[in-house]
Amino acid sequence: MAVTARDLLRQVAEDCGCPYSEVVRSVNDRMGRGMGLLPSVREVALEHGLDPEKYTISPTALVREAEEILRSNYARALIISAVLAGMLERDGGDELPLPAFFAFVELLDETPQPEHHSGVPTAEDIESSVRRVIELMTTLVSGVCDWSTGGIEGVAESCPDEVVPLAKSVVRRTKLYQAGLWSCLACKRLVDLKDVRGLLCPECDASVGMTGPGHCLLPGEPPELDRLGYGHTRRADLDRDDSTDEGAGGRYTHRFRT
Ligand SMILES: [Zn+2]
Repeated sequence: MAVTARDLLRQVAEDCGCPYSEVVRSVNDRMGRGMGLLPSVREVALEHGLDPEKYTISPTALVREAEEILRSNYARALIISAVLAGMLERDGGDELPLPAFFAFVELLDETPQPEHHSGVPTAEDIESSVRRVIELMTTLVSGVCDWSTGGIEGVAESCPDEVVPLAKSVVRRTKLYQAGLWSCLACKRLVDLKDVRGLLCPECDASVGMTGPGHCLLPGEPPELDRLGYGHTRRADLDRDDSTDEGAGGRYTHRFRT
């Protein structure tokens, strides 16, 4: 499993014999002043007489693990996307920072649709996957982007080449958001933030809204609207999802509420 920010903080706390909460406070304090995750962790480590170079994260490993979670069960990937979108809409990014969500969207967009359905995930499976994805994505954007007190500034110099396109996209979407614009998650069109409905542009939202509760799609809906969550999906997935046991179906909605 990839090393996450939480793992690093735990490791520093363990190595210096300080309470975890104290290490977290010290790191948060620095990050609040615009310092990056890794420099903050290393400075705190150094203050406690530890070798700062020992503490590191691998953006590539973080991406690989998230990809594995998304690809191993496509139905689960779509449910995760709906859960994350719900969190974002509900608390405006308290649980899930917006850049971390953007990183997730990029990975989901690149996730191929499987040939065969991989089974209905259980509620526990979804919960643990959601937690893990948030941890992976939060660590990832902390590591591959340059931060300041105003938020993301650009792509970090230390970002590995293969993760640069993803980091660039996160920076772009974040800057657009700061400028009051939103890239619709279905059609990618730029819309004014005040017109965004359920994280979609008004047109895409209206199309999704054609479906009633318990029905994700209407027969004959154009293929480009054949969406569930933020990924692309097929009817076969939806039909099976509709018949989920009390696990996934009841607790996690398949589409975004406005
Ligand atoms: Zn749209």
